[in-house]
Amino acid sequence: MSTHRAGLGVSPGVVAGPVARLAAPPRPPADEKPGDDPVAELARVDAALDQVARTLQERAQATSGDAADVLTATALMARDPSLHSSIQGLLEQGRPTVASLDSAIESVCDVLAGLGGYMAERAGDLRDVRNRALAVLLGLPMPGIPHPGHPFVLVGHDLSPADTATLDPAEVLAIVTEEGGPTSHTAILAKGLGVPAVVRCPSSRDLEDGTLVVVDGSTGSVIADPAPDLVTQALEQADARRRLTATGAGPGRTADGTAVALLVNIATIDDAHRAAALDCEGVGLFRTEGMYLGRHSAPTLEEQEAGYREVLTAFAGRKVVVRTLDAGADKPLAFVEHGDEENPALGVRGLRVSWRHPELLQTQLQALGRAAASTASDVWVMAPMVATPSEAADFVASARAAGLSVAGAMIEVPAAALRADRVLAEVDFVSIGTNDLAQYTFAADRMQGELAALLDPWQPALLDLIAAVGAAGERAHVPVGVCGEAAGDPLLACVLVGLGVRSLSMAPGLIATVRLVLAAHSLEECRAMAAAARDAVDGVTAREAVRALAGEAVRALI
Ligand code: PEP
Ligand code: MG
Repeated sequence: MSTHRAGLGVSPGVVAGPVARLAAPPRPPADEKPGDDPVAELARVDAALDQVARTLQERAQATSGDAADVLTATALMARDPSLHSSIQGLLEQGRPTVASLDSAIESVCDVLAGLGGYMAERAGDLRDVRNRALAVLLGLPMPGIPHPGHPFVLVGHDLSPADTATLDPAEVLAIVTEEGGPTSHTAILAKGLGVPAVVRCPSSRDLEDGTLVVVDGSTGSVIADPAPDLVTQALEQADARRRLTATGAGPGRTADGTAVALLVNIATIDDAHRAAALDCEGVGLFRTEGMYLGRHSAPTLEEQEAGYREVLTAFAGRKVVVRTLDAGADKPLAFVEHGDEENPALGVRGLRVSWRHPELLQTQLQALGRAAASTASDVWVMAPMVATPSEAADFVASARAAGLSVAGAMIEVPAAALRADRVLAEVDFVSIGTNDLAQYTFAADRMQGELAALLDPWQPALLDLIAAVGAAGERAHVPVGVCGEAAGDPLLACVLVGLGVRSLSMAPGLIATVRLVLAAHSLEECRAMAAAARDAVDGVTAREAVRALAGEAVRALI
């Protein structure tokens, strides 16, 4: 019999496929007793490590390049004789088996972490070996992304950045998690890959491996063991959506011709190459910290220049908005020291890091200035977490000194939105980060899925702040864009345009639907939608009110 679960749709699309669960990393049992025979226990541990090494080698053979090298190196670590000796020593001291393996590996990780740089990054790989070997010893499912040998719907508690790094969109049909929110890592990643996703889906981990599910990443519905006609209907609907969205092309416009630039959000050089091949007008948000996640030392000027040049070259002739490092809170970087902070989201993050480490920002701007000078793209640079007009002015001065002629600020702190006129007087453009602006307006941690309703970008209070910025932009003739997740919601995109926003930057997979829905509404209609949304009492009724104003064809699509 089919069962229905209702979660939060965060990346659109409908698929049907079998479940494969993401297992959590196992822990040594607290009540584990030592084995009777240390020699036999050592043989058990060796066999588990050998099994892990063989699996890693098989995966290395099935892939190529850096990924294959890392997998081969990790397999070698699993067979390291010094690891074997330290486990043997612990077992001979009478320590329990699983705990011995765990603590021997943790000691090696400590040494690697102390060495810094490339070696420190290997600690994560070795912990993966430990987790896998523990799963073998305890008879538990393998942690991490499963590899059932066929395409699957990935179901888990939540995805860590490490899990998602290895996720292959050719294998993963959809993602369903119990935790997460609209701006969580899972949501952003899924949209980036164009994979439908539902977060905050209750008891989804009860779904057994192999269960057939229909996942709708727009409505948030997850149906297990669906009737065959439902599967057919879901797939037909998905097909109709794909056909419709494939009909539009070219720059974004409202029905009456108001230009609204449709841009992509990227975080890595690979993202840039993938997105450059798409029908988009450029990059509206290059999250540069995405290039340095996992690094333990700051990238050099030359490394940065080479990276930026590659991205800018990929988008030659188009606009690229580069955001300077937004380290801290939800985006920790190992080489940026934040000290102990009780509330990292309210701490020294984003542009504020340059108060302590001015050299980080200067080097980044210099690298970008050099890359911009030698490429033909239209480079814009902006700072994250700007709160005051003087911060905006200082940033613009630094950018200009580095040879960057178009400099702006993200508006993601309510103070900057409230005094938009004065911030806009200092900059060439602004881009509204609705993810953080929602977090700070509602005092709701964006990492807490439980607060999803407050973080809903349809909340009228958030729209009021966006309206203030849009109006200030129109008065000052300074371009206002949106690069938070709100920009990729096709109905909300119309509202944003009605509020004065003239560029929308989103995950590449969302552009086609946004283009189609915008083209179906005039600027006047977008303004009416904006007024209806701001008149509503909460996010849900705001969306309903706007949906009622949308054309029938559009309602069938979203
Ligand atoms: C935002 O806050 O909306 C934004 C675009 O930046 P990030 O999600 O990277 O914080
Ligand atoms: Mg932000």
